[in-house]
Amino acid sequence: MNKPKILVLGAGYGGIMTTVNLQKMLGRDDAQITLVNKHNYHYQTTWLHENAAGTLHHDNTRIPIDEVINKNKVNFIVDTVKEIKHEDKTVVLEGGDTLTYDYLVVGLGFEPATFGIPGIKEHAFSITSINAARKIKAHIEYMFATYSASKEKRDELLTFIVGGAGFTGIEFLGELANRVPELCKEYDVPREKVRIICVEAGPGALPGFDPELVEYAVNLLERKGVEFKIGTAIKEVQEDGVVLSKGEDMEEVKSGTIVWSAGVQGSPVCEAADIGAMRGRVKVNADMRAPGHDDIFVVGDCALIINEEIDRPYPPTAQIAMQQGVIVAKNIKALINGENTKTFKPDIKGTVASLGEGEAIGLVFGRKYFGGTASFLKKMIDNRYLFLLGGIGLVLKKGKLKFF
Ligand code: FAD
Repeated sequence: MNKPKILVLGAGYGGIMTTVNLQKMLGRDDAQITLVNKHNYHYQTTWLHENAAGTLHHDNTRIPIDEVINKNKVNFIVDTVKEIKHEDKTVVLEGGDTLTYDYLVVGLGFEPATFGIPGIKEHAFSITSINAARKIKAHIEYMFATYSASKEKRDELLTFIVGGAGFTGIEFLGELANRVPELCKEYDVPREKVRIICVEAGPGALPGFDPELVEYAVNLLERKGVEFKIGTAIKEVQEDGVVLSKGEDMEEVKSGTIVWSAGVQGSPVCEAADIGAMRGRVKVNADMRAPGHDDIFVVGDCALIINEEIDRPYPPTAQIAMQQGVIVAKNIKALINGENTKTFKPDIKGTVASLGEGEAIGLVFGRKYFGGTASFLKKMIDNRYLFLLGGIGLVLKKGKLKFF
């Protein structure tokens, strides 16, 4: 009998957890597992803001995929997925290959949501990948170097604008605020010349987070020199700055660096696949399959699941993506064995947002944590993930082991 072909697209949290769990659960004769990813490494998306600010080297964030998969069981292909053709159960890669599948797992992650704001795609950076983070880091350093070397000393070179005070924006601000004094020293720039501005259209930072924790975060970042423009929308991003509006008032702020972090949507490949995606996210069935497609599972930021308690979608997180990877592997095994699939229910242990080295806020198992304790918890969460992925060896190699 032919072995069923399992094809996993994307080695982010969802895809890699599906793959490592499949390789644990299935023997070589049970199935043929193939993983396709753009790069030969998996990266921790939740650390990319540190790479972008330059407070952590990107090699700490990425993990060679060969180190976590069993090559006797998983065929790993480095390529970019171009198209999913569900009618003929195939996937087309940019390199020209066409792969067939019996079971497909779509874990292609996210792209920035621009909400139709002109100029974001052309002129703003987004923290989306190792390559994108490296570019932001290099650009920030270039701005300092250019300012130092120039006669005109244009203010906009040292004006850094972050669009969005959600989780990603706040975490990036914490790192950037920590990096700036170092850059000032390196490039002989007075600290007061540098502006870090956070523009948030909503009524406050970190929507949905506990107000006391939000206050702590905002106060801390303000003390480190971040200016918040709350209730202010970015109307347009231009080559040399942004146009802002607050009510009737319009304002232009000149800036050489705009980092857009005000929302994400699922992968465009998922959107184009005609499997029920809206903004790249498929509202999946209880067992993580795409409605009407019994052979297609969707995980991570490409999947949309509803929190029944509040009748709203769960925000896409690494925590949920990882848990989905585990259940999807179990469900594929169940289908192969002719058994029933299981329902996915997220087990939300808490949320911790970092605010730069040694500082964080968090709500874990219903308890609030601030400062060093929250930062310690964040590192434990990160290390736990590495342990689940590659055991103690990976924790020792890539873990965050400097706690205080
Ligand atoms: P991803 O982790 O985005 O991975 C997708 C993978 O697919 C990547 O390897 C990519 O290269 C690959 N890929 C994409 N397109 C293609 C293609 N066409 N062909 C081949 N390969 C492709 N969540 C938390 O729970 N806690 C946090 O503290 C947290 N902090 C965050 C901080 C930042 C800066 C950001 C950006 C996000 C943060 N998140 C956090 C959200 C979390 O990172 C995402 O929800 C999570 O990464 C989604 O996982 P995923 O498996 O869907 O995809």
